[in-house]
Amino acid sequence: MSPNYLAPLLSKYLAPLLPLQDLPPKPTVFLDLDKTLIKSFNTQPPTFDFKVQVLRPPRMPEKIYKFQSFLGRMTYYISRRPGIDELLSFLHGKYEIVIFTASTKEYADPIIDKIDKYRVISYRLYRNSCKIVDGKCIKDLSRTGRNIKRLIIIDDKLSSFSLQKNNGIQVSAFVGDPGDKGLLQLLKFFEIAVDFEDMREAATCYLFSLLKI
Ligand SMILES: [Mg+2]
Repeated sequence: MSPNYLAPLLSKYLAPLLPLQDLPPKPTVFLDLDKTLIKSFNTQPPTFDFKVQVLRPPRMPEKIYKFQSFLGRMTYYISRRPGIDELLSFLHGKYEIVIFTASTKEYADPIIDKIDKYRVISYRLYRNSCKIVDGKCIKDLSRTGRNIKRLIIIDDKLSSFSLQKNNGIQVSAFVGDPGDKGLLQLLKFFEIAVDFEDMREAATCYLFSLLKI
């Protein structure tokens, strides 16, 4: 039995990041935000879909934020990645959808509110749920409270899922190109993956099929 004084510390570090899943259980998809679902610009580009005003910039650490909040709000201009609506509507009902971003809650929430038109995203995890290793934000999926066989992460950075490489599919980074096909290609993966018991096997098969093309 742990001493009482350790309980708050242990619950902070050992409690799963997500609550228990609703029944019947579905595979869980963790979707990165920046450059995976959207591209964010801090100066106004020629075209964009919407803008948000944010007090705390996306990657600002807590300590700096406390001292810099006097800087006021910053405006971000957001381009939605083509295929985002198709992807979310395909996943809805078949998968549990979670946004897992290395950005701050203050930055990510107004953007997610805009892209989740049909309210199909179940949970949101932010920078404070990442592990910082050598200055990089790592999304440790073992802490999420989901069966490792039944989850997949989609991210433009390999390092984000370096602790569970077999659970991830790296997508090309979206830089605002209106002809981008990254998410539409990913639909093919989700169409086949739903029949797999182990998402890691589905990812391996999918990546292997890409190599053969
Ligand atoms: Mg990203």
